[in-house]
Amino acid sequence: MTLFKDLGLSSQLLKAVEREGYETPTPVQLQSIPPLLAGKDVLGIAQTGTGKTAAFALPVLQAMTAERPPQKRRIRALVLSPTRELAAQIDERFGAYSTHLDVRHRVIFGGVKQGPQVRALQKGLDVLIATPGRLLDLIGQGHIDISHVEFFVLDEADRMLDMGFIRDIQKVLKLLPKKRQNLLFSATMPSSIASLANSFLRDAITVDVSPEEITVDRIDQHILFTRKADKHRILANIILDEEVSCGIVFTRTKHGANRLVKQLVQAGIEAAAIHGNKSQGARTKALDGFKRGNIPILVATDIASRGIDVDGITHVFNYDLPNEPESYVHRIGRTARAGRSGVAYGFCDESESGYLVGIQRLIGNEIPVIEDHEYHFEKARPKPEQKPGKIKDPNAKKSSNSRRRSNNGRPKGRSGGGNRSQGGGGRGSSGQRSGGQQGGSSGGRRNHRGNR
Ligand code: AMP
Repeated sequence: MTLFKDLGLSSQLLKAVEREGYETPTPVQLQSIPPLLAGKDVLGIAQTGTGKTAAFALPVLQAMTAERPPQKRRIRALVLSPTRELAAQIDERFGAYSTHLDVRHRVIFGGVKQGPQVRALQKGLDVLIATPGRLLDLIGQGHIDISHVEFFVLDEADRMLDMGFIRDIQKVLKLLPKKRQNLLFSATMPSSIASLANSFLRDAITVDVSPEEITVDRIDQHILFTRKADKHRILANIILDEEVSCGIVFTRTKHGANRLVKQLVQAGIEAAAIHGNKSQGARTKALDGFKRGNIPILVATDIASRGIDVDGITHVFNYDLPNEPESYVHRIGRTARAGRSGVAYGFCDESESGYLVGIQRLIGNEIPVIEDHEYHFEKARPKPEQKPGKIKDPNAKKSSNSRRRSNNGRPKGRSGGGNRSQGGGGRGSSGQRSGGQQGGSSGGRRNHRGNR
C-alpha cells in the first residue's frame, strides 16, 4: 500500500496531512502527486469528493516552499475555480495543508466588496484562488499581477465552460508567463474540454478517476414518475418517512428552489436554499447550518452546489431531472462519499422523460422505478425508442407521429419498472415506504432531525 510518505512530500506537508486524519492517498492523489512534484503538467478527470484538491494543493505548496525567491511575495500559484463556494473551499484546504509553512494564500471572488481583497493583495501573496470575473476585474484595475505564476490550476473546467467562462479563461491564459506548470481538472471530458486542455497543457499526464465508476454503483437509485405539481408532496413524504437528516435537493431554477423551500417549511420540514441570487452571507449561513446538522435539507441549483463539500449526505433528490446527463452523476455523487452508501431519488415528470433516457444511457443502466406511491403518473415514463434530450412541448404541434407515439404510454419492453422497483441494493425500507400509506404529508411527522 502506498502511503503519503512514499509520494515524496515534505515533512511539513506530511504533518499537515496527518493532522487532517488522512491515512492513505486517494487514487487521484496517488496518480497526480508524483508527476506534479516532478514538474509535469497533469490532466485530471475527477470530480469533487475524490480528494482532487489535495492532489494539486500539496504539490503546489511543496513547490512554493522548495525555493523562495528573495524578492517580496508575488503570486506564484493561481487556482481558477468556477464558483465562490468551491473557491472558498479550496482556499480553506490550502490553509489546512500549509499550517506548517510560510505560505500566504487568499481567495477572491465577486459578489462581495473588493476592498479587503485588494488590501490582502497589496500585502503580497504566494497562492491566489479566484473566480474568473473578479480576477480579471482586479487585474484590469492593476491590483493583480499574474506574470510570475509558476503553477496554474484550472479546476472544474467543464463547469467553467458551462458557465460561459471560456473567454475569461483565454484572457487569463494570455496574461500568464509561458514557462509554468499546468493542471486542469474536470469531472467530464467532452471535446470542448479536450481542446481547451490541448491549448495549454504540455506533454500532460492524464489521470482518470471517472466519476461514473466511483459513484453510481454504490448509490441506491430510484426514479418516480409524477406530475410536476405533485413533486413537492412526494419529496415531503419521503423526507418525513425516511427521517432524512442530511439531504440535498436539486432544482433547475433559483425561483424553483425558493418556492420549494417554502413548500417544505409548510410541510414541517426545515430547509434552506442555496443559489446564485442569494447573497454570499445567506449562502454561507445556509451551508453552515446544513454542515452542522441544524438544517436537514439543502435545496440547491447545480451551479451553486458545485463543490459543496459535506460529508454524510444520505439522500440526493433530483427534484428536477438535469438536462445534462453528467450533472446527474455529479449530483448523486454528493452522497456515497468516502466509501459510504447513499440513496438517490429522481422525480421525472412528463416533460423530463427524454432527460431520463439520456441519463440512463450515460450510466449504462435503467434506474429502478418506484410505482407504488399515490402520485405515480404513468405518462411521464419514457416511450419506447424515445430519444435522449429535451422533448417537444406536446401542445406545440400535434403531428400524427407524436400522437401515435403517445399510445397511452406503457412501454412494455422497457425497464420492467414494477418488478424492479423495489430491487435496489439492500435498502429493504424503500419498498414499504412508498406513498400509499402516508396520505399527504402527515405520517411520521417531524421526527426527522436525527444525528448526522
Ligand atoms: P475534494 O475532492 O478535494 O473536494 O475532497 C473531498 C474530501 O475528501 C475533503 O473533505 C477532503 O478533506 C477529503 N480528503 C482528501 N484527501 C483525503 C484522503 N487522502 N483521505 C481522506 N480524506 C481525504
